[in-house]
Amino acid sequence: MTDAADFNTVGFIGLGAMGKPMLEHLANNLPKESRIWVYDVVEQVVDEVCEAFPDRVYKGISAADVAQHADTILTMVPEGSHVRSVYLEPENGICSSDISNKLLIDCSTIDTATNLEVKDHITQHFPSASFYDSPVSGGVVGAIKGTIAIFLGCAETDPNFARLTRLMELMGKQIIPCGGPSLGLAAKLSNNYLSGIIAIACSEAFDMGMRSGLDPRTLAKVYAAGTAQSTICDKFCPVPHVYPDAPSSGGWKQGFKVQLMRKDFGLAVEMAKRVGSKNVLGDIGLETYEGAANDPRCRDLDSRVVYRYLGGQEDWQLKSEQS
Ligand code: NAD
Repeated sequence: MTDAADFNTVGFIGLGAMGKPMLEHLANNLPKESRIWVYDVVEQVVDEVCEAFPDRVYKGISAADVAQHADTILTMVPEGSHVRSVYLEPENGICSSDISNKLLIDCSTIDTATNLEVKDHITQHFPSASFYDSPVSGGVVGAIKGTIAIFLGCAETDPNFARLTRLMELMGKQIIPCGGPSLGLAAKLSNNYLSGIIAIACSEAFDMGMRSGLDPRTLAKVYAAGTAQSTICDKFCPVPHVYPDAPSSGGWKQGFKVQLMRKDFGLAVEMAKRVGSKNVLGDIGLETYEGAANDPRCRDLDSRVVYRYLGGQEDWQLKSEQS
């Protein structure tokens, strides 16, 4: 049960593809006494959610305004530059309000350096406020269904952990404490790096097998039974029509956009360099996602479209029917 006293006044900043459905879960699931203030630079989306939840969701005129009204504030914006402006902008940023004792949670996927810079600023100016990174995984469909995984930049022993978990459980399924400040982001970037590399390797492996004469359905069985098994090889199989529910089988229309993979992959490679991690696949992976993100045949599609970008055969079913 969520304790109403914990979340009497909540703020939500950034109502895009992910933020809007997350806010809707809060509006539907928080105790009935809770009030929510929202802000986005796109006023129309703010008006829409206020109309959808009258007497529950209120319009903020800036990030600072939301921070004045709410004791718990979530942010969900695209990149580090947006996070910096939402928190640190001198006139209208969250930190231009008195945020003493408030709980601040940034769910954006950004670089760990910006996250720590914002945290340091808050600690210095408002020592009683608490700031956490809390990136999410599971895509827009997961945000709508309330099944996203949430990687909390805090330890299980953190005094706010229980409160954070109660709040995040209203929007997602698995809440994983990652150990400390910025480690939720480090975990998310490391995950997306791995997932992006597997998608490239999986595309290449299918392609070499298919060009050697194998049916991709046979290859899929081999990977599932052998040592190459991975959710990218089956649930998110890059080759169309091997697994009917994979984004590739629907023309890569649903899923995690290749531009977002490019962004997260780039952040992961930067992070690896910063922490001195040897990273032989990073530059080539980044070049591949950069190319795919800029390719009109791939742009805006699920990132496993990297199979198309690398020249994989898409009409293999037709060919196997003809032979
Ligand atoms: P989006 O572009 O759809 O939404 C971002 C929202 O932030 C927009 O409504 C924009 O107007 C608003 N915004 C930008 N600057 C602002 C500011 N200064 N003040 C207030 N509002 C501002 O992006 P999204 O897909 O919702 O992604 C948000 C974050 O979540 C990103 O960091 C992304 O990497 C991450 N993420 C996205 C997905 C996905 O599948 N879309 C999955 C997991 C994580």
